[in-house]
Amino acid sequence: MIAAMHSPAIADLHLHSDVSDGVLAPQALMALVARQGVGLAALTDHDSLEGCTIAQHAAAELGLRCLAGVEVTCGWRGQELHVIGLAPKVSPLDETSTLSRHLDHVRTLRRLRLQAIADRLETKAGLPTRALVAPLLADRRVPTRLHLARILIEAGHARDVADAFDRWLSRGRPGHVPAEWPTLEATLAVLQSAGATIVLAHPHRYRVSAGVLNQLVGEFAGGGGQALEVSVGGMARNDLDRIATLARRHRLAASCGSDFHDPGIPWNPPGRFAKLPDDLEPVADRLR
Ligand code: AMP
Ligand code: MN
Ligand code: MN
Ligand code: MN
Repeated sequence: MIAAMHSPAIADLHLHSDVSDGVLAPQALMALVARQGVGLAALTDHDSLEGCTIAQHAAAELGLRCLAGVEVTCGWRGQELHVIGLAPKVSPLDETSTLSRHLDHVRTLRRLRLQAIADRLETKAGLPTRALVAPLLADRRVPTRLHLARILIEAGHARDVADAFDRWLSRGRPGHVPAEWPTLEATLAVLQSAGATIVLAHPHRYRVSAGVLNQLVGEFAGGGGQALEVSVGGMARNDLDRIATLARRHRLAASCGSDFHDPGIPWNPPGRFAKLPDDLEPVADRLR
């Protein structure tokens, strides 16, 4: 208790439930997050706010605070990016908000892409993927390539997720389908008009040069972005250092999160990631 008064409990602002490609339902996810010693959480499913209200109620019962959040897919110079919106001022349940309608559109693009990937794997590689993805496309989950990777593993076409991406899904493989996502600019405008706190997710993972990443972060900051995700579960120290440098240069706050998906991957649990550098402003402090 005394320690908690001096150092705020861990904030984990990047978590997935089975509303998208996480394994746990929002309630079960919050129970695990609470057990991991997290005091402030954000549910950030891909392109959906659907689990947020349930997660927030479950968290309250566990003495944990959970923010509504969403990890939005967008495009920038042909690169697929993820931008996290935290604590939007619109209700996650309001299906008529501009944010909800934007997310609905992205989910439609996701369904079309997954169907196109299944078609390509069927015609180019002879895998029976149309039938395999039908149940996924018919249910309420936000479909992702991680679901497809799991389906390919289950059907014996890949050893693990990395193998599924390497063999079938990544650029240059038979199941690669480039998608036309909404632009970064449009995505930032939608999140800003919804009153969300805006974080660029895992900047270290984008495969661009240092100069182009610097331009991306500049456009992100100029378009209303507020923080970079400086510390993510499983991140290498040199990646953390280079993203921290970008946050300083562009005067952005710093976010942290596990990007937790699956309790079957024990080395990446909720709440586990490196501490943020002391000189950066934790974006969590704006949200507590
Ligand atoms: P999508 O958003 O549909 O492109 O699906 C990508 C999701 O797959 C990510 O959000 C990650 O959860 C997961 N993933 C796991 N391994 C990889 C990988 N090697 N490349 C891309 N995505 C991966
Ligand atoms: Mn994911
Ligand atoms: Mn992501
Ligand atoms: Mn994520």
